[in-house]
Amino acid sequence: MKRVLVAGGAGFIGSHMCDKLLLRKDVSKLVVVDNLWTGRAENLAHIKDPRLHFVRSDVETLQTSDTFDEIYHFASPASPPWYMKEPKRTISANLLGAFRLLDLLKKGGRFCFTSSSEVYGDPLVSPQPESYKGQVDCTGPRSSYDESKRCTESLLFELQRTQGLDVRVVRPFNCYGPRTRPDDGRAVSNFITQALTGRSITVFGDGLQSRSWGYVDDITEGFARYFWMNETDYRGPLNVGNDREISVLDVAKYVSSLMGGVPIVFKPSPPQDPTNRRPDLTNAKYVMPEWSCKVSYEEGVAKTLDWFRAELKPRAPKASAIGARSPRQRKPMQLSGFSSL
Ligand code: UDP
Repeated sequence: MKRVLVAGGAGFIGSHMCDKLLLRKDVSKLVVVDNLWTGRAENLAHIKDPRLHFVRSDVETLQTSDTFDEIYHFASPASPPWYMKEPKRTISANLLGAFRLLDLLKKGGRFCFTSSSEVYGDPLVSPQPESYKGQVDCTGPRSSYDESKRCTESLLFELQRTQGLDVRVVRPFNCYGPRTRPDDGRAVSNFITQALTGRSITVFGDGLQSRSWGYVDDITEGFARYFWMNETDYRGPLNVGNDREISVLDVAKYVSSLMGGVPIVFKPSPPQDPTNRRPDLTNAKYVMPEWSCKVSYEEGVAKTLDWFRAELKPRAPKASAIGARSPRQRKPMQLSGFSSL
């Protein structure tokens, strides 16, 4: 039986991964560590499984004497406005978070890290294979995120090389879908929340910059397959994304059309906004040939819109997420307390 720790488990991607981990019968305990900076307690509120334990803490200062068979490091903001606002905290969560989590890994345990396609910066080759070194400005406004992902990769791959650490690193490409914060600020969720709240859709720059938008179910399915695979000779970072590249303006127009023609307005580009981004999936196809993105961008954006429509609907006040004792809840989640670990 495995004891598992998920740092950032109340976040967008982390909470979807918790759902998947709890489907595994060999997981005896799942400890989520999250400071609820960009994560939300609501993202875990549907889970009634007594194996889940929630600890509210910064990952880098987590206090526990427990150790774990598998550790997942998802603790980082991923949206440019959020990480640009708090660069020191972003670097700390990624890099110092990894240092702290490494202390908690059992000997022979596996360390899984969500890096980012941002390690490629503003790429000069397309699509980007994992071997592409990227074009990143280490003094630029995106550097707290880009470089802390790169440095954490460096830490992990060097421990793999020098100590044989069992490391799995994924590089997701523009993941979107249900459980994105309404105030997240990234393109798909911004366009949808703007359209649903009667505002114009804001396209930055001319909108001709492109991304490869990956629906969260497809992305986390790819993560789970790679993270949990025992028989593989692949040791490097793995691109996980949808390789259909679509311009930002096309996404804006599509959201607008779904909402009956919401106006689109153009605003200045954020600094050093990458012009393009598309994964080379050769390695992903080699490592997990049975995996591919199944949800088209049209379907994924429509599903995300439905989720936000329900999310933004005014509701009667309800007992808050974590720690709330609903009558159907067999056992309340343990809230804090490293005594519970
Ligand atoms: N973007 C936009 N309007 C918004 C939010 C984002 O035009 O309200 C653009 C942004 O400038 C970028 C693209 O959408 O070119 C993707 O931005 P996002 O923040 O989603 O992800 P990232 O820049 O990290 O790829």
